[in-house]
Amino acid sequence: MSAIRGWCPSAWRPMLAGDGLLLRVRPPLARLTRAQALLVAELATAYGNGAIDLTRRAALQLRGFDEAGWRAAVDRLVSAGLVDPDPAIEAVALTVAPDWREGDDTHRVACALTARRGDLPPLPAKFGIAVDAGERSVLGDAPADLRVERGVDGGLILRADGRARGVRLGRGKEVDAIVALADWFAASEGATAGRMARHAAVLPAWASGGATPLVGELEGEQVTPRYGRVTGIELASLADKLEALRVTPKRSLLLERGAARVPAPPSSSNIPFWKERRHAEDLLEGCRGAGMSLTSPEATSLHQPGAGPPAVPGENRVRVSGAVQARPRSPLASAPHRARVDACVGAPACPQASVVTRALADLLAAAPLAGPIHVSGCTKGCARSAPAALTIVGRGGRYDLVRDGRADSPPFRRGLTAAALLAQLGAD
Ligand code: SF4
Repeated sequence: MSAIRGWCPSAWRPMLAGDGLLLRVRPPLARLTRAQALLVAELATAYGNGAIDLTRRAALQLRGFDEAGWRAAVDRLVSAGLVDPDPAIEAVALTVAPDWREGDDTHRVACALTARRGDLPPLPAKFGIAVDAGERSVLGDAPADLRVERGVDGGLILRADGRARGVRLGRGKEVDAIVALADWFAASEGATAGRMARHAAVLPAWASGGATPLVGELEGEQVTPRYGRVTGIELASLADKLEALRVTPKRSLLLERGAARVPAPPSSSNIPFWKERRHAEDLLEGCRGAGMSLTSPEATSLHQPGAGPPAVPGENRVRVSGAVQARPRSPLASAPHRARVDACVGAPACPQASVVTRALADLLAAAPLAGPIHVSGCTKGCARSAPAALTIVGRGGRYDLVRDGRADSPPFRRGLTAAALLAQLGAD
């Protein structure tokens, strides 16, 4: 194993970050059973530094591993059906609309594509495919290069990223079309551009259509951790009372509570049930042994929306503060977010960052500023790809300011210290 820098990490190709190796897990069909979620929580706590980041590709990034811990964790993730034993297959980034039900179009197409991942040609590391075929397409701007979506006429369409319209798909032909368009991308030297949206070649006639996607909002009971960050202990506490969790590209977790709503995705897991039970019991026992209550009022509030933190108006969500467990709640952690603020992990955890991001984002969130606000450690903009009213970008240990743009847009102020930035924005 060699640690990879500047590369899209996977379970088999961990990236070396400022806090150790970063291990990315993409749950099959975006779903974690209770036992799988407890296993992820256990591995993050036992081998990593306990931090888990939810990503905009609906993956879980476990942080702070050393090489021995990474190896042990991957072996158990493979046994639990959360990582494919073939690194080439695992590298195919498949994002699935998390609100699927067994037998619906998202479930059907995602299962068929999962089974045929080996038919895809070699693709750039960041190339991704989205299956978003519910009653409405809900993945929004989640990164993907090929998208199977619901069209406005009710049928399914295939749309190349960067194009407003796609081509209608025949039932049962969806995966053939995905593989054919991926083949075209590879053959037309799309790897030089890296992503479909940047690939200027004219699409083949069969893939050029006038069908537009029917867009909707993801519904269902969700937990949205602040900045997409949970700890292993928080994840265990949340998963313990649930049937399963779905990971969304909104960096939230969709909760499954009832067996009637819990379709079982196909799994290559051959882990005996009693062993999965054992993982869960070991973790819960370890938490109790460490004096951490899993049934504290704060933890319980996660399972009983309405008894916990207030729901965000207009959204069927519960915001989780940074202090679900017994550790002291900092004044910043409980500061009201008056604007929607996104922030990547920043320095020191990310080697690409030269500045701290989330502490600054906390201060901006508490200031009377119109959002959305995006604080990015560099121009890559991992936390948000859509434009924001205000984007703060780290560069050389200082901050640049972008108005109505993205992290890679031209700034209107450059090279500010944190103090100067706050003064400029009236947030000091
Ligand atoms: S945007 Fe943030 S997390 Fe992403 S590479 Fe840059 S500093 Fe790192």
